[in-house]
Amino acid sequence: MGMIRLKNVSKYYYNKGIIASGISRINLDLDEGEFIVITGESGSGKSTLLNVISGLDSYEEGEMYIEGQETSHYSAADFEEYRQKYISCIFQDFNLVTSYTVYQNIALAMQIDGRSEAEIKEKVPDIIAKVGLSEFSRRKVSKLSGGQKQRVAIARALAKDTKILVADEPTGNLDSESAEGIVELLTDIASDKLVIVVTHNYDQFKDHATRVIKMHDGRIAEDTGAASKASAFERAPRVGRAERDHSKHEIAYGTQLKLGVRNTFNLPAKFLLLLLVFIFVVAAVSSQYVTVRKQRDTISGEGWNDFFTNYDPKRVVVEKSDRSAFTKADYEAIENAPHVEKLIREDMIYDSQIYIENSDFSFYGFMLSISNLDNELSLGTMPKAEDEAVLEGYDDDWTFGEDPESLIGKTYNVSMDNGTEKKIKVTGIVLLDPKDGDEDSFMDTSAIYFSDKLTGELREAMYASNSTTTMLINGTEETLYPGEGGLVTNERVPEGYILLPTSYDPAFKEGYAAGNEIKLKAKTLYYEQTLELMIMGTYGEKTFEQKTGLKDLMEHDGEIYINPIDYRRLYEKGSFQASVFVDDTRNLPGMKDMLERGGYNVLVLKDHIYNFLDTDLLSVIQLPVAVLICFAVFFIAYFVVRLILKSRGVYFATVRMLGMGKKPAKRIMRVELMLDCAIAYGLFLIFVCLNISGVIDIPALADHILYLTVVDYVILAAILLVMAVLISGRFMRTIFKSSAMGTYREEV
Ligand code: ADP
Ligand code: MG
Repeated sequence: MGMIRLKNVSKYYYNKGIIASGISRINLDLDEGEFIVITGESGSGKSTLLNVISGLDSYEEGEMYIEGQETSHYSAADFEEYRQKYISCIFQDFNLVTSYTVYQNIALAMQIDGRSEAEIKEKVPDIIAKVGLSEFSRRKVSKLSGGQKQRVAIARALAKDTKILVADEPTGNLDSESAEGIVELLTDIASDKLVIVVTHNYDQFKDHATRVIKMHDGRIAEDTGAASKASAFERAPRVGRAERDHSKHEIAYGTQLKLGVRNTFNLPAKFLLLLLVFIFVVAAVSSQYVTVRKQRDTISGEGWNDFFTNYDPKRVVVEKSDRSAFTKADYEAIENAPHVEKLIREDMIYDSQIYIENSDFSFYGFMLSISNLDNELSLGTMPKAEDEAVLEGYDDDWTFGEDPESLIGKTYNVSMDNGTEKKIKVTGIVLLDPKDGDEDSFMDTSAIYFSDKLTGELREAMYASNSTTTMLINGTEETLYPGEGGLVTNERVPEGYILLPTSYDPAFKEGYAAGNEIKLKAKTLYYEQTLELMIMGTYGEKTFEQKTGLKDLMEHDGEIYINPIDYRRLYEKGSFQASVFVDDTRNLPGMKDMLERGGYNVLVLKDHIYNFLDTDLLSVIQLPVAVLICFAVFFIAYFVVRLILKSRGVYFATVRMLGMGKKPAKRIMRVELMLDCAIAYGLFLIFVCLNISGVIDIPALADHILYLTVVDYVILAAILLVMAVLISGRFMRTIFKSSAMGTYREEV
């Protein structure tokens, strides 16, 4: 039995619903040592027959035997193996990798065949010399003439060194002189192979062929020995040739890697386009990532706290762990600690709002120290005296009336918590742009900035109003209320004394309170302070004015007077609570830890708020959306990559014809795409780094730095690599979905 036998083989083409017959009912026996020329007019089925014989195309009817083995059950992979083992092809349109050099093209055929690098290095130069292209060996195929290309194609077929060599119109594109050289070459190699040449120009081969098959209308019209002298058996005796070991013909892993890397860079325009696509993918996926992160972060920062109404996600409230008052050294230590943006010393008053008013205007806002004013004044000047203040609020009629300028220089009353009144003068105004406001915020932003002395007094009043003050008088304990109707300061009362109304006289045996001792006790959240005072006397209707310097007794009924210095001893024990603002909410845990180790109790307001939105629920919605967007990006990327990789389609169709299987092809593609992705990702990281160091300033990238952690960057890289793998997988499925020839026709 011959090497190849065809029995009633037919092949049809299906094209847009039309069925065309390529060859029909072909019977043929082909044997080693034959030099067969197939001729016939155009469209007679020559190429079809050749493609079927070489396993490039499928056939629909009949049987084909290869060395006695029936092939109708062959899968695409089986035909790849068959091609790799038996067939070397020379095509009319060369089918070379034009971006590779002559050397690389020839080496490629041997690499696909799984030959060792040493063998390739040894043999390729000889083969190139044989086809007379030695001086062009390092030249890219795209720069060669048609005749030279055809020689490369022949050299490649020679390098493969298989039993069967097929050539479809090998001289079709060449001038007669080049054609003659090609014919010589083919004749030369035909001695120990089965050579099948398709040509419409029989004359070129008639001196060399051992057999001529004439095709007509898809059938064999004539099958004769050559008109000329030679027959296979009369020619040079066949030399016993060492059979190559064909059992192992997997392309080596190192070679796959090498080809992948070469493919990445050998077409610069394609490389840059791919890089752009992957940078787009990196940007799209990472910004999706950042959006989810940012939203979660923003939402978790929104809400309110019932006790600390001046809520800010960056704010933490601290007290000393021994619950003593803050010292100057404490303030300095906190202010100089890392990540501390600002310190509010008067934390107690920071959460309370206060009214200032006169007959024309009233204003309501948080009490702050002028040292905490961050914004530039819009109107007026900074305060110089201790009773001067600055107002801050949104620039609208509702807040400042129609003419904010007119408010400056006017005097306003401030009612303090302990009932006393103060007068202040407004010297400056900060107008905030309502557009800058946080729409989601439901908090007031108006503030009044007082001098440090006044904030101290305000705090004192607040401590007084928040203290339980008791008086122990002649064995009975009685609760006093600071301010109106209770404990009030009076300059006329000397230090260490107390002035009571006459109603207290009967409590003593003699009927006189004067000269007796009493004890005052103030108790707050933070301290207990006792004062022992001497009763200097009592006041009645007639003595009131003389003893107190005040006028209307009715208005001051029941008040108890002490010296301001004693009053301060009771209530002005310093500040026990402070607020610290972190520079960035992500640094909150670190700052909390640091402060706690520094000897403070820390309350992170962000962790103690009421929030409308459930962040867990949100991630249930957001995650699928993010995944969907990633899929969309994947498909966009896939189609663009496919367009860009048009040339790769031809490349893989070509290597497939040379017998490369799906797996190594996929790996080569994967190397290329992963390398492209890695470079795109590297560029992305470089941009992020440049943005950090301030060399460039891209706001979108700033968010990347804020919201992504190292783990996120690793995950991002993993997503990209998976994408590269998926894209190469899809790409290879389309390359390998039909027969090698079918794919080639599609890709070219
Ligand atoms: P030849 O090589 O002798 O010119 P072919 O083998 O190329 O002939 O073509 C044989 C027949 O098959 C022709 O009628 C041609 O129209 C048809 N044919 C070849 N290739 C295709 C194809 N891809 N799709 C549809 N019909 C085809
Ligand atoms: Mg043809």
